[in-house]
Amino acid sequence: MILVHCEHDGTRLRKSALEMLGAAQALGGEITALVLGRGSSQVAAEAAKYASQVLIAEDALLEPYSARNHAQAIADLAVQAEASLVLTSGSRAGREVAPRVAVRLDAPYLEDATQLELIDGGLRVKHYAYLARVTETLEAIAPLIVVSVKPNTQAVAQPSANLGEVFEVELELTPSPIQVVGRTQEKTSRVALTEASLVVTGGRGMGSPENFKLIEDFADVLGAGVGATRAAVDAGWRPYAEQVGQTGKTVQPNAYFAIGVSGAVQHMSGMGKSKLIVAVNKNADEPIMKVADYAIIGDLNAVMPALIAAAKKLKD
Ligand SMILES: Cc1cc2nc3c(=O)[nH]c(=O)nc-3n(C[C@H](O)[C@H](O)[C@H](O)COP(=O)(O)OP(=O)(O)OC[C@H]3O[C@@H](n4cnc5c(N)ncnc54)[C@H](O)[C@@H]3O)c2cc1C
Repeated sequence: MILVHCEHDGTRLRKSALEMLGAAQALGGEITALVLGRGSSQVAAEAAKYASQVLIAEDALLEPYSARNHAQAIADLAVQAEASLVLTSGSRAGREVAPRVAVRLDAPYLEDATQLELIDGGLRVKHYAYLARVTETLEAIAPLIVVSVKPNTQAVAQPSANLGEVFEVELELTPSPIQVVGRTQEKTSRVALTEASLVVTGGRGMGSPENFKLIEDFADVLGAGVGATRAAVDAGWRPYAEQVGQTGKTVQPNAYFAIGVSGAVQHMSGMGKSKLIVAVNKNADEPIMKVADYAIIGDLNAVMPALIAAAKKLKD
């Protein structure tokens, strides 16, 4: 049985959860979705469309979020449910939790898988290694294996004809010696990059951090996520959290706007699966212009204000 730890926002499954469930469906066999924390019961009905059973738990020790307590819950339930595979998202939280689960279960841990395949007695995965210069194939042979899956590398799950059964489960969590005693969150109205259905990315061609206002303005009109190339991040113009590419995030939006981006292989490996690519570049010979569905040749300082104005007009 495959136990899928489903990330959610208290009301809906996150895209990462739909991808994990999709990966589990592709592997085949029985799927149990695990929904932890506040809002689990609301999210359970959605998870039931994709799994044969759903386990939910709203234990007080799961709030506020703590990797230790979530790991304890997942590990305990993996044993109770007799799972042979535990899937978690390769999100930041998922990568915090998954190794802790593996240690608790004394199970092998395969990190940041991009492809998964069942083999005799275990699992084979592919993942990037050595700063994404190498794609490694790994095999784990064990009765129980823990895997984190790189976001935006899997097809999302398809709802099945029958709804899975939902079970409320009791946890016996032990209080952690470490308590979260305060938390402030940066406020941003912008959609998270890996969840965005539209992404606007700026590269070195933006010329300065101030000029990224063109990217932000366009993204805000569209309701899109903001991305950056490594060149823009290394220059200190944008935070690493926005980096798209082999050593950044993988995105798969409906439309990807690459502005002042040359299209290096390391960048394209993180956005090449976008459904539609629009590039703005002053040089028609750049690699990004070859893969773009719409290539706008011109100075971005002239093109972007026109694009922003056109997008605003469409919205009004
Ligand atoms: C191991 C490794 C991992 C890497 N990982 C990543 C990664 O995760 N993500 C990533 O992005 N890169 C990554 N890189 C770096 C990558 O190789 C490129 O260097 C980088 O993507 C280039 O960023 P860029 O397109 O912004 O800059 P450039 O290649 O310098 O391109 C700038 C573009 O802007 C255009 N331009 C300039 N001025 C204007 C203007 N006024 N109007 C319109 N167009 C203009 C230029 O024609 C050019 O095409 C990695 C490299 C290595 C070796």
